[in-house]
Amino acid sequence: MTRAAGPAGAVLACCLALAACGGTDAPASPGTGWSGGEPTSSPSNSAPPGDLAIARNETREDSVYPAYGDPLVDALHYDLDLAWSPEEERLTATETLTFRATGDAAAIPLDFNEQLAIASASVDGTPAAHRVEGHDLTVEHPLEEGRQYELVLEYAGTPAPAPSPSQRADFAQGVGWSITPEHETWTLQEPYGAFTWYAVNDHPSDKALYDFTLSVPAPWSGVANGVLTSSTIEGGRSVNAWHLAEPASSYLVTVAFGDFQHTDLESASGVPIQIWTDADGEPTPGDTAYAPEAIDWLERILGPYPFDSFGIVVVDNDSGMETQTMVTLGDSAYSLSAAVVVHEAAHHWYGDTVTPADWSDVWMNEGMAMYLQGMWEAEQEGIAVARKMDEWASFEADLRAQSGPPGAFDPAQFGDGNIYYGPALMWQELRERVGDAAFFALLREWPAAQANDTADRREYLDWIEQTTGEELTSFFDGWLLDRTTPDRD
Ligand SMILES: [Zn+2]
Repeated sequence: MTRAAGPAGAVLACCLALAACGGTDAPASPGTGWSGGEPTSSPSNSAPPGDLAIARNETREDSVYPAYGDPLVDALHYDLDLAWSPEEERLTATETLTFRATGDAAAIPLDFNEQLAIASASVDGTPAAHRVEGHDLTVEHPLEEGRQYELVLEYAGTPAPAPSPSQRADFAQGVGWSITPEHETWTLQEPYGAFTWYAVNDHPSDKALYDFTLSVPAPWSGVANGVLTSSTIEGGRSVNAWHLAEPASSYLVTVAFGDFQHTDLESASGVPIQIWTDADGEPTPGDTAYAPEAIDWLERILGPYPFDSFGIVVVDNDSGMETQTMVTLGDSAYSLSAAVVVHEAAHHWYGDTVTPADWSDVWMNEGMAMYLQGMWEAEQEGIAVARKMDEWASFEADLRAQSGPPGAFDPAQFGDGNIYYGPALMWQELRERVGDAAFFALLREWPAAQANDTADRREYLDWIEQTTGEELTSFFDGWLLDRTTPDRD
């Protein structure tokens, strides 16, 4: 996410939507073809993919937000058939969740929104009793360890965001499903909030595959993660089918309904890129046309882009979020800057393909995305990255004092600058310690080795020590857990 509002006009880029600033008038490449017409292909088949093994995970209870997610469920595939009625602001949905039980239990525990009314629930074709208390959905059906189940829910209502555990201004509207004054919709749901619009095991350790069928009155359309596999008009409604072929954590899932146009672009290496934005505005607003160059720049440092496609959907908010394969950006000048495009694209290596297994390790996402953003900004400004880090160090101690150490932050201040800047400084220190060759090998090899997986800090830091042959326990403890900033070389 990007983070807005750094000290003294500094740029904070965070996961959810911390903003990065830094006078980046990056050259915008001219957009290529604009496809405004409606593709004509048959509606997608929403049957789950045959091989769900890629979506098997070691689920866990979160150490920071234990009330969300349940390790009993290992979600494998979500099929979300969603119809949006703008005038009524009503969502009507059929959800099919295929999951594996990791233990024996009397019922299925999921996260869900009590504002939505469930019309029916069944498990493997058998109707099941259910109840929602707070954000806990319980479906009465016994579970046996290791078995796979198919839960089908039909529900409807007007979703609203849930309170966010953050002090950031761009989170003030809450997390989850948001509705604009024009009845358009968008989502930002880090560290949780997917539950506001579908029944989900809402925890980053549980990645799953997704198919979406999105229906809305034409000419509006629905945008989601993955690849648009069909787009039709049926009875005055546009119906878009999206398929996400790589498993995603729930915080990286997005759906937006609105009056969109889209533009097709491509990176030099051939990654297909789509920019979805307001039909009445510029086809590639702000610096969104920089996306191909951002991917090219990142591939030179990090290796091949880890997914089949990349995209940006521009929505009416103040934030930016690295939703998997389809970045969600607010329509402010900062959110649409090239620095934010680079930052959110960097998360596809650090956050999206390898994802923290616990929210105490969100620094794994933001520290590296911020460091890469810092490298890019330094390059744009013609200065050494070490000097950029000196600039950031001038305010890092205050962020750490305000919101806690990056690896042990205050749970009520999720997404503050402390998880961004301190870990970025840490990576520069490690770079100076092990040298460029070893450092950049680490940057390339970790996401490639952990593709479509999750990891916690012990796994990551052990791997770094083994790969570099360095004893780094006190180094990492100081940067991640101390309340004061370690000495910099
Ligand atoms: Zn970020």
